[in-house]
Amino acid sequence: MDDLFQDESVKKGSGAHICVAVLVPYPVDKAYDYAVPYGEAVETGDYVLVPLGGREVVGVVWGAAAGDVKPAKIKSIILKYDMGPMPKVHRDFVSWVAKYTLSPLGFVLKMALSAPGALEPPEPMTGYKIAADAKGLTDKQRAVVDVLKDGVIRRAADIAREAEVTAGVVKTLLGKGVLEEVALYNPAPCQKPYPDARAAQLSDDQTVAAHALVEAVKAKSFYAALLDGVTGAGKTEVYFEAVAQALREDQQVLILLPEIALSNAFLDRFKARFGCSPALWHSHLTANQRKNTWRGVAQGVTKVVIGARSALFLPYEDLGLIVVDEEHEAAYKQEDGVIYHARDMAVVRAHLGKIPIALISATPSLETVQNVWEGRYHKLQLSNRYGGARMPDVEAIDMRAEKLDAQHFISLPLRVAMQQTLERGEQVLLFLNRRGYAPLTLCRSCGHRMECPRCTAWLVEHKSSDKLHCHHCGYFCRIPKKCDECGEEDSLVACGPGVERIFDEAKAFFPDANIMLLASDTAENADELKDMLSQIRSGSVNIVIGTQIIAKGHHFPGLTLVGVVDADLGLTGGELRASERVYQLLHQVAGRAGRAEKAGRVMLQSYMPDHRIIQALCDGARDAFYEVEAMEREMADMPPFSRLAGIIIAGRDHDQTLEIAKALGRTAPQGERISTFGPAPAPYARLRGKFRFRLLVRADKGIDLQKTIAAWVDGVKCPSTVRVYVDIDPQSFM
Ligand code: ADP
Ligand code: ZN
Repeated sequence: MDDLFQDESVKKGSGAHICVAVLVPYPVDKAYDYAVPYGEAVETGDYVLVPLGGREVVGVVWGAAAGDVKPAKIKSIILKYDMGPMPKVHRDFVSWVAKYTLSPLGFVLKMALSAPGALEPPEPMTGYKIAADAKGLTDKQRAVVDVLKDGVIRRAADIAREAEVTAGVVKTLLGKGVLEEVALYNPAPCQKPYPDARAAQLSDDQTVAAHALVEAVKAKSFYAALLDGVTGAGKTEVYFEAVAQALREDQQVLILLPEIALSNAFLDRFKARFGCSPALWHSHLTANQRKNTWRGVAQGVTKVVIGARSALFLPYEDLGLIVVDEEHEAAYKQEDGVIYHARDMAVVRAHLGKIPIALISATPSLETVQNVWEGRYHKLQLSNRYGGARMPDVEAIDMRAEKLDAQHFISLPLRVAMQQTLERGEQVLLFLNRRGYAPLTLCRSCGHRMECPRCTAWLVEHKSSDKLHCHHCGYFCRIPKKCDECGEEDSLVACGPGVERIFDEAKAFFPDANIMLLASDTAENADELKDMLSQIRSGSVNIVIGTQIIAKGHHFPGLTLVGVVDADLGLTGGELRASERVYQLLHQVAGRAGRAEKAGRVMLQSYMPDHRIIQALCDGARDAFYEVEAMEREMADMPPFSRLAGIIIAGRDHDQTLEIAKALGRTAPQGERISTFGPAPAPYARLRGKFRFRLLVRADKGIDLQKTIAAWVDGVKCPSTVRVYVDIDPQSFM
């Protein structure tokens, strides 16, 4: 019995029941014992179907049975799927993430089993091929035969489209015996990317960095590197070399991107480089795409996955490299369900799998920079933009000196620069990270502010829908004719700028310009958004007014002027990462300017032009910014010099929720090396109708934070109507 698991397998017994522990994808902390059917053999990691509370659910054999269930009560595994076992490294990863994030083990497994039905053999579709030579065909029938002459099996709909006939013609030819039906399976995506389809000629800098990554892939051991370089330095070309090497080793690659829906240009580049589209993994895939990709990844035939954070939990058969592009992005933090940071967990995955990981950024997170300083991560540096493009000139406009009309937001110097840019036939981007028309609607008569009835948040006016919207819960309403509070008619006024308002202002100044508004809510869907982005690239748009959706990663060759409407936004917030985030965002926006041969100019409108962040941006003093930021964090004993955990207590009943928060406060860990702040109402004290309180734990690095918190939180009895969430390494404090 003892060595049963040493070879990773659980063999069938000699007639007696052999049991194994099976983990199911539900919020449970342990695997349950099940009997292996007589004559069957299962291995640890095998995917099986088991009965659970009257249902049949998919689970994974997790190891030896615990033996804590009476033999008479043990249920039997229903079937074992015809699929190789989940690799040990992946099971270890699931366990590691559960332990680190204090999430139930089965809940993390659920993320790995995220394509329901993927374990069933796929249903074939009906395809057609030519069965016999035929004479006397009509033109339409001939067209169908011509399409199928190449021997490729196609579905009726595809044949009809290519031959420009109706599907009925295919049926007729089938009846005549000219065509025959064949079972057609959707092939798994990205089976044959070619490592050398079209390699780039690298610059010297690029060659050095690429060589380091390629060697790391060859070495097949853990290696973490930050690939640091200004926007436009050609970082993507560099890590593509590492991807190529992993392909030569016949291994799989995961490239994580923060915003996968907008990555069309990236996908085109990948295809040009490797001659094959990558597999995609994000939340908008169809059920069939999910199944197909999941199987391809698990079977090792799908070679490259480009995905959002959840792609990390796919059970790769043989992963050889992870790339985290824009590693500093907040989008890598998952804030609900299992609360985890995909960049950090990717490093863990690479470590467990003994493979290299490359973190890519022009503005890395302070955590990563600190890891480089302390020698834990290698640093690969690209110092200049590729092909001699210069970095843009950045200047601040002192808004205190500008005399703007009420509710106007574009200063004279910016307007003049816009005019000059347009006259040269170049493009302008005005950046403001605020959707809608105005962030605040208030009553001129009594000062009442329109607030969401379910959240601690102001309602935002949207001209496009002519409604007030809550950006947190989706609540919206008509703009009332009179004030809710004092009843005064027509007294509500829009305060402050949103992108829609800047659009109106720009239109008034430049009536002949082609102006495009780009925010997450201005496009109907991802396709429309892609279309808008390609219109900008083509140069047909003169002025783009956009939110952060436009700030990152895009390459617009004609864009030479970037105006930041409100560079102070976020500077005064007291959050831990406020400075870092503002710096990163503005740096990224600035990086949109002058990426081709024309020089770029960036203007930051600010009421605090002397603020160190504005100064650092103007001086291009990025590393100095990191040093000051690190010093401040160290003095305040904050991450990356210590560790934090956020505890959020949420419930519909205010008093009951507060009671639990207080009870947690009374027993909170306090000491020399660990301290707890709160409870206090969260900044969003109400969200989607739930009251929210927060505690924040700060601990020295040597402390086992998870163990301490688990013991503490488990010690407070909590009714099912109140939820306690633990957020290890919080990014948001709202
Ligand atoms: P980054 O990812 O660092 O912002 P990119 O990889 O997007 O930079 O490169 C910026 C631009 O320069 C892209 O248009 C890219 O195609 C081009 N480029 C970079 N390196 C090379 C190279 N070695 N050969 C040809 N073009 C390159
Ligand atoms: Zn709301």
